[in-house]
Amino acid sequence: MNVFSIFGDPVSHSRSPLMHNCVFKALNIDACYSRTHLTEGSALRDTFFAKALSGANVTVPHKEAAYAQCDEVRGIAKTIKAVNTLVLEEGKLIGYNTDADGFMSAIGSFGEIHTALIIGAGGTARALSIALSHGGITPTILNRSRGRLEYFECEGFECFDWEEFSVRPYDLIINTTSAGLSDNELPLPRPILIELLSQTKGAIDVIYGKETPFLREVKVSALPYKDGSDMLLEQGVLANHLFFHGAYPIDQIRSAMKHSFSF
Ligand code: NDP
Repeated sequence: MNVFSIFGDPVSHSRSPLMHNCVFKALNIDACYSRTHLTEGSALRDTFFAKALSGANVTVPHKEAAYAQCDEVRGIAKTIKAVNTLVLEEGKLIGYNTDADGFMSAIGSFGEIHTALIIGAGGTARALSIALSHGGITPTILNRSRGRLEYFECEGFECFDWEEFSVRPYDLIINTTSAGLSDNELPLPRPILIELLSQTKGAIDVIYGKETPFLREVKVSALPYKDGSDMLLEQGVLANHLFFHGAYPIDQIRSAMKHSFSF
């Protein structure tokens, strides 16, 4: 039996075990997927091998630690410098980032997008800014503080903190902050957000499973919007496809995994 797990701290909230086990059951795959609460990111590699895993996902706050402990990193994860999917290949730990491609699939329904404003400058903002840029969409990054903007400046993206920012139109507004996850905060001062929403075509919050204060404001503005569920689904579909080296068709994985969202 192939054994998989998700590493994170916290990890109890993660929907990944449900999503992947649903696929294993539907496609008759002899495998199971569990959670691993890992406090020390530096122990990730040893824990992976000690549990004899065939693959894993990595969530907050260990994606950078996972990147550092792979034998090889492939695709967009090399630029993002963060890994959310690990696959064992001939005894070696191979790292990928499926958050980026998962997000790009999720925003397909917004139609043609040329510019996007990313609110937040953490690991998710990094993945999304690179993915957008590779997809021909110009990202601008807006964060409450300057500290984390350095990475984006080095990538050549336009960056602002709240004080420097002045509103202009963007096709898509993306909340990648954790504001609203376990509090009732907006990711931006309300007057700035309201003005931004009056000049955009759509908005997405990467947080899933709850209506954040950000999404409540978006709803009031009557814009097309999404939460992070589609991104979650798509990153999971791509990870599952990698776990078995492409042996199972993407469409079958997606339809089985989608089923787990109805529970
Ligand atoms: P990080 O901790 O790396 O970054 C958090 C960012 O949010 C920072 O820029 C921080 O600003 C900002 N921030 C936090 N609180 C506030 C606040 N109250 N007001 C304004 N800004 C704030 O987190 P990640 O990038 O790893 O994750 C961010 C979110 O994305 C999480 O909620 C996570 O659940 C979600 N996510 C969803 C996925 C999906 O599949 N749908 C996939 C991956 C992540 P500062 O620099 O000033 O501290």
